[in-house]
Amino acid sequence: MRRKVLVNAGEEWPDDLIAELSEHAEVIKYGTATVEDLRDAEVLVTFYLSPDDLKLMHNLKFIQVLSAGVDHLNWSVIPEDVMVCTNAGSNAEPVAEHAMALLLASAKRIAFYNSRCKSGDFSRPVRTALLKGSTLTVLGLGPIGLKVAEHAKSMGMKVRGYVRRPKSYPSVDEVFLHPDVAGALRGADACVVALPLNKHTRGLVDYEALSSMKRNGILVNVARGPIVVKEDLMRFLNENPDFVYATDVWWNTQDLSKDWDVALLPNVISTPWVAGAFGNPAVFGEMVRFALLNVLRYLRGEEALNRVDRSDYL
Ligand code: NDP
Repeated sequence: MRRKVLVNAGEEWPDDLIAELSEHAEVIKYGTATVEDLRDAEVLVTFYLSPDDLKLMHNLKFIQVLSAGVDHLNWSVIPEDVMVCTNAGSNAEPVAEHAMALLLASAKRIAFYNSRCKSGDFSRPVRTALLKGSTLTVLGLGPIGLKVAEHAKSMGMKVRGYVRRPKSYPSVDEVFLHPDVAGALRGADACVVALPLNKHTRGLVDYEALSSMKRNGILVNVARGPIVVKEDLMRFLNENPDFVYATDVWWNTQDLSKDWDVALLPNVISTPWVAGAFGNPAVFGEMVRFALLNVLRYLRGEEALNRVDRSDYL
């Protein structure tokens, strides 16, 4: 029997890569798959998993997720012998750009002054911050965090990183190890959250961690909402009106408007989860290509990138 790859990527279907994959396996659009295809499929490329379909996939060996984050998967229904890979690195550039946009907009008070200028008020009641020479902590040095660190370094910032297993990072001046998040944030002017959401990082940025930053600091979140404790953040923002929370991500991912209470705070600037795939179709196209290249690696018997350690999620 020919190996089968099911691809659940909407209309995205890069013909050149599909042709290369087809040298190793039959590549099938998920929407056209028969029950037999589900039963035979060895590889599934997808954002979401249908537990019902998964039950039919007796031959499944590899799930290539299209997103960099895999916190939304129902890990309890994925058989232990199925390898799961994230798509980390597939959209690092646009997400890092977005983090820098939020950081710069916060430091320079763009949202604040923009709305005043539009109303005809050209007075200057608040100061802007200088990023050069200031300290930025980057939580997570994956592809996104590393890009942010590079941008920050090129702007003359002092860069701290926060990881579990340190390596050498040319754009990072000082590395802190999990779980010393308060140490990594101590006295920092700004922080960018670029961690995956897993059982170790959920709620990592709590009131204590926030309190170790400068009272007029900036916290940028382009990773996932629940890494920050929502109630602690709201309390901290209310107590420290000069502190800014700048975010692309939210706690209620099914209905972002349920987090309007945070968006409404005067010291919050926000975007509705547009840093990655939802912001630009070209970004999604690149993510599909990146994912399929990993499948190609797997089909050729090479080591696939970004293999998930399921114990981080269960
Ligand atoms: P990676 O998953 O490749 O990066 C992981 C980094 O986080 C590594 O440096 C890793 O360090 C570190 N890390 C993981 N767990 C811990 C921990 N418990 N303590 C300390 N460090 C830890 O991520 P990416 O850079 O690709 O993406 C990060 C996240 O950004 C994604 O998981 C996703 O949720 C989010 N994202 C958001 C988007 C948006 O639209 N806003 C778009 C794309 C991604 P170590 O190697 O030492 O474990």
